Amino acid sequence: MSLEKGFNLTVAGLKLQGYSIAGTTTSVAFPDADVCFDVAQGLPFQIPIPNILITHGHMDHASGLPYLIAMKSMQSQAVPQVYMPESLVKPMSDIMKVWAHIDQHEYRFQFRGVENGRDYPLKPPYFFRPFPTYHRVASHGYTIYEKKKHLKPEFRTLAPAELGRLRKEGVTLDEFVNEPLLSFTGDSKIEFFDTPDVRRSKVLLMEVTYWDQKKSVENAREWGHIHFDEVLPRLEQFQGEKIVFIHASARYTTAYIKEIIEARVPEHIKSKLVLFPRPM
Ligand SMILES: [Zn+2]
Ligand SMILES: [Zn+2]
Repeated sequence: MSLEKGFNLTVAGLKLQGYSIAGTTTSVAFPDADVCFDVAQGLPFQIPIPNILITHGHMDHASGLPYLIAMKSMQSQAVPQVYMPESLVKPMSDIMKVWAHIDQHEYRFQFRGVENGRDYPLKPPYFFRPFPTYHRVASHGYTIYEKKKHLKPEFRTLAPAELGRLRKEGVTLDEFVNEPLLSFTGDSKIEFFDTPDVRRSKVLLMEVTYWDQKKSVENAREWGHIHFDEVLPRLEQFQGEKIVFIHASARYTTAYIKEIIEARVPEHIKSKLVLFPRPM
């Protein structure tokens, strides 16, 4: 790992790159879909990624935008598409104006406010849809979907020759299905879990900031964060392949978090849980 490259993690076939510690820095890229979730203070691994999805305006998640836009501009990349809560568009644009003034350079970027439940295009076969999250400031989570072509169920038992014949006759044999591939929570209370497609995501990247009794559930909720005690009873409801925990507080070592998972999670669920690589 280096700060330039972040940590790499391949999970359920998805290649991720990033860095996440509560209150310090959070940014995870999914390069195959051209997407980066949050930008931390601005890190070099984000520079090639054309679409930036900002969950909320806290500095450890979003303060790197001016840096990132400047680096992209220096490399003459296409205009970066940056999605964020609607209420952030104006203040973030103001910040960019101040930096443009300091730098004596006109930056090109597109800031767009998002709505929960609406679909936004990415490069095919991907698109994304924001979902509600519950933090101390305006926030969204994001689900990346993959549009997949399937044979309609009624044709699945037919032999290839028969399918070929029907295709020639102009029968529509395929249907398109939107599969939730990857969800990213940013910072939120546990209620983000109520969105069905988030629970169905192949991979769910979720924040769990607090892991033991040194912080109470009430305290975590007051700060708009998740305590592991609230995750445990919901694990059975997750229908995807892997949950990747991000945003653990720096007060816990990786070994300590792994001990907690080992001690508290039912055996049949353990293999679904992954801790995003971290430096401590
Ligand atoms: Zn955070
Ligand atoms: Zn936050």
